[in-house]
Amino acid sequence: MVWVIKCEKCGNERILYVSYNIKDMDKIYLYCPYCKRNTFNKIIRWEELNE
Ligand SMILES: [Zn+2]
Repeated sequence: MVWVIKCEKCGNERILYVSYNIKDMDKIYLYCPYCKRNTFNKIIRWEELNE
């Protein structure tokens, strides 16, 4: 699945590729390339990838 997440610190949206389901998570803590540090990221939406 493809996830669109938004950094709560800088507000930049970006695409995240993960194979597991993070739908039930309100926010995830991971590295933001804009902030250049780990931040909380809000999950905006997700999309199924069709081959
Ligand atoms: Zn950021």
